[in-house]
Amino acid sequence: MRFTSNIAGVSQELNSDLAQQSPHARLRYHCRRWRPWRLVSCVGHGSPRGESPRFGAGVPISGSHLGEFLSPWGTAEIRDLGLLETFHSAGGCDIPWVEMGTGPRDLIATAKHRLSAISYSHPELQEGLIRAARKAGAEVRRGVTVRKIEAGSKPIIECSGNGSPERITARMIVAADGRNSAARKWAGFASERDEHPYLIAGVLLEGVSFRSDMCAFVFNPATGTVTGTVPEASGLVRAYFGYPTSAPYRLQGKEKLPLLLSESAKSSPFLAEAYRNARAVGPLGSFDANDSWVDHPYKDGVALMGDAAATSDPSFGQGMCLVFRDARVLRDALIAHPDWDRAGHSYAEMHDIYFRRCHTATRMFRTVFQEQTPEAQAIRQKALPLIEADPTRVPDHLFGGPELPIDDAVRARFFGEC
Ligand SMILES: Cc1cc2nc3c(=O)[nH]c(=O)nc-3n(C[C@H](O)[C@H](O)[C@H](O)COP(=O)(O)OP(=O)(O)OC[C@H]3O[C@@H](n4cnc5c(N)ncnc54)[C@H](O)[C@@H]3O)c2cc1C
Repeated sequence: MRFTSNIAGVSQELNSDLAQQSPHARLRYHCRRWRPWRLVSCVGHGSPRGESPRFGAGVPISGSHLGEFLSPWGTAEIRDLGLLETFHSAGGCDIPWVEMGTGPRDLIATAKHRLSAISYSHPELQEGLIRAARKAGAEVRRGVTVRKIEAGSKPIIECSGNGSPERITARMIVAADGRNSAARKWAGFASERDEHPYLIAGVLLEGVSFRSDMCAFVFNPATGTVTGTVPEASGLVRAYFGYPTSAPYRLQGKEKLPLLLSESAKSSPFLAEAYRNARAVGPLGSFDANDSWVDHPYKDGVALMGDAAATSDPSFGQGMCLVFRDARVLRDALIAHPDWDRAGHSYAEMHDIYFRRCHTATRMFRTVFQEQTPEAQAIRQKALPLIEADPTRVPDHLFGGPELPIDDAVRARFFGEC
């Protein structure tokens, strides 16, 4: 298995005189002043004095099946991180339209941030982000595997890969090692889980007839299935199909492509035509749809980020937005607090708030559009006719993000209780 960058050490002093300036101006300042930052494959490496100007951020690597749709609230995060241009030059493609089974919706005109969604090729974006990190002065090491993290006032990473094994200290370790994060265990975080009996399959297709400026995410509440169709700049299309674990099949391996395509067309009939000439150009795999997270994802010099901090059900396409939200919030906390332990706790407090709000919203979506329990079916009987008459009853968190209101009144309106 190939491991690449995702756990990084961070350390640099910050100057409070810059507090009045924009985050970008402050970052540029720090970048110039403390070069070289070190974004290292798995870790930041100490300076010769052992003092450590280091910077790291999770760069999602691998991902032949992973997320390639960034919702508009994620676009707002990458804009605030100064990464929009990096996305576009790595082949990122604006997707201003979405189809959710009720007709095309213009995201720029209607979603909270007035921004487009973006689609991209995961591997190309990874390369683009690494190039940008190097250009900003970070040291990037690839092909390195972290074996252990020791949390503490001087946290340590043990890693191996290019050359002999190393033990490296950092002022802060930022671990973005994905949905099966070992860093959670190494650093002693307790995991919480919200299990759902669903799987999501993904595959990259060619030969799909579909609008190149529109994604489609369509739930079929009658079967608990969901289809996703995400066009990329290359003309290829990432197709997703979410299905209950009770289905009499597992969509795993390219030979299951005809079944994925036919089940997708059963779930969302417009896909029968769109997928007529589709061929797979990458692996086909299924992943579980459980939510799994850490409350307060910082302690003793170790911050978790992205899926390591909170893996959200991929059926709702929130994971990449959360990755970039985490990066932005941690960046801002590090800039704001000279005491990095305080910065880590501040990041973790904010993470708890926005992840809980995302999780609450996606649970509601699952109840109304996917769950097959008698309780969910009873809710749907009331809710769906009212939603059909007034689609604004559906909360817009998937596109507008966790700052939208999410409370009993929103729930009652969505569930058709008022
Ligand atoms: C089928 C599917 C479809 C999805 N679709 C979407 C979507 O459309 N939109 C969306 O927003 N989100 C989507 N997601 C979620 C999204 O892919 C994730 O939220 C996102 O990739 C998380 O990024 P990450 O950097 O935290 O973790 P990852 O992308 O998983 O990266 C973790 C990296 O850490 C490396 N690593 C792990 N352990 C070590 C170690 N010990 N040493 C060194 N390196 C290590 C891994 O090799 C990997 O490269 C989808 C997920 C799935 C499964």
